Amino acid sequence: TGIYHSLVSLRPQLEIPTTPDLDTTSFVLSQFPCAHLAETITAFIDSSTNHHLSYGELRRSIFSLASGLYHGLGVRKGDVVFVLSPNSLSYPTICLAVLSIGAIFTTANPLNSPTEIAKQARDSGAKLAISAPEELHKLTPTGLRTILTCPSSDGDGPKMLSIEELIQGCSNPIELPQSQVVQSDSAAILYSSGTTGISKGVVLTHANLISMIRLIQWAVNVSASQDDVFLNFIPMFHIYGLTFFGLSLLCMSITSVVMQKFDFTTMLAAIETHKVNNIPAVPPVILAMAKHASKARCDLSSLRRVGSGAAPLSKEVEREFRQRFPWVELRQGYGLTESGGPATFSASNEDAKTRPDSCGRLLPRFYAKVVDIETGKPLPPLKEGELWLKSPTIMKEYLGNLEATTATVDPGGWLRTGDLGYIDEDGFVHIVERIKELIKHKGYQVAPAELESVLLSHPMILDAAVIPVEDEETGQIPMAYVVRAAGSELTEDQVIQYVSSQVAPYKKVRRVSFIDTIPKSAAGKILRKDLVSQTKNQLVSK
Ligand code: AMP
Repeated sequence: TGIYHSLVSLRPQLEIPTTPDLDTTSFVLSQFPCAHLAETITAFIDSSTNHHLSYGELRRSIFSLASGLYHGLGVRKGDVVFVLSPNSLSYPTICLAVLSIGAIFTTANPLNSPTEIAKQARDSGAKLAISAPEELHKLTPTGLRTILTCPSSDGDGPKMLSIEELIQGCSNPIELPQSQVVQSDSAAILYSSGTTGISKGVVLTHANLISMIRLIQWAVNVSASQDDVFLNFIPMFHIYGLTFFGLSLLCMSITSVVMQKFDFTTMLAAIETHKVNNIPAVPPVILAMAKHASKARCDLSSLRRVGSGAAPLSKEVEREFRQRFPWVELRQGYGLTESGGPATFSASNEDAKTRPDSCGRLLPRFYAKVVDIETGKPLPPLKEGELWLKSPTIMKEYLGNLEATTATVDPGGWLRTGDLGYIDEDGFVHIVERIKELIKHKGYQVAPAELESVLLSHPMILDAAVIPVEDEETGQIPMAYVVRAAGSELTEDQVIQYVSSQVAPYKKVRRVSFIDTIPKSAAGKILRKDLVSQTKNQLVSK
């Protein structure tokens, strides 16, 4: 009742520590199991080597690495550290060590091309990089001082320092370096293209991270039992993997099995071997499980809960999954990098079952309103408009981009999500469509503006526009509309090749159509909606 212009979270008003000088690492460490239990409880298991890392070992590595970074490498408060690595047991150690000295970590998708990595390293103002050995070549051209996540097996070339050596070199430091971090300090920079344009650095503060940890703890606690084993293939460079596996689950003494990257067969084997019962996942994984898990002869009976987030989950896929795994609870969450992680969550399997269209209700401390796209006026329940969010987890800013920041977060602190949706009378949030430019392929962000600038760099391309095309398996694929130079005989394959030679594989343009002119508004903005409906009509008429 009374839900009208803005909806306050219906959940209890969860307490969030407000001590001004609390940093994320101290907060996380304060929730670790007590000293002797910490040695026996496993925080992480490496799915490929079966190496176990206890909470005690994790705490020691954070202390040692923080000392090594501070005393050995001179990393100080406010310095930006660029992390380029797939998931590994050391990923959370790196983030928490960096945070403890008041430095800021920035993460990148290791699938990105050297040009994309160099651009992001420059944009973030990084002073130091920590790289997986196999990704090092992408950082070499930047000239950025780099240390490795683990010793390189490659015998050639000068030996490089690795964080393992830094940790060993500072074993048993008694305390963390004193850096006087306050909650309002910047903590992390994660990249997202937001509602428009190219990828931008989303700056999250310690207060943002601490608040998000509390909210996820609350959400997971709703149902989790003591013996929960989580499976972690969601990348930790993304807000979803970072907030769950790098931060929040560590505050709950949970064990996570870490996969370097997603692979369906490895995932099924890991579920069986480690008796995994909890998987935060994305829609393409839910689809694969629904369609193909029965072919594998793996015992998946340990599974209890699977989550879906980062992209829309189709009702049909959800139904198939429930049919195939009747003993598993399937719940959705919805959030953005800019909201610092999940904003909604279906608290029970029943909620999720009865409202398959919804991604749940607001997490504690969240406010939401639905705003008319034309008039900017708030709308009543059930009316569709742009979803706006407010909470202590909303980003501080886009790094060095006041214009994009003010266009995204209003002076009252409301974040414009760029998602079209409505809120029903019981407070369930429904995302209907994405109105922002962003394309999501397998849950990864693809910014049309980035692909358009690559296309425009081709001498035979006069103009270009990139739009999403719906795809059952991957969510969406990028499609390019291209205006060729007069007399050019550029082919679809050549365009696809040209783009794929310059971008990460998940960003590849997968379909091309040639057109005479790109439809644009009077102000010169690409009318993507027209191209999207034109494409839909063509696909229907085929
Ligand atoms: P990212 O910043 O990469 O997490 O992308 C955020 C965007 O992913 C949101 O603005 C939505 O467009 C989309 N998204 C995330 N979760 C969901 C969901 N449960 N349903 C629909 N779209 C989602």
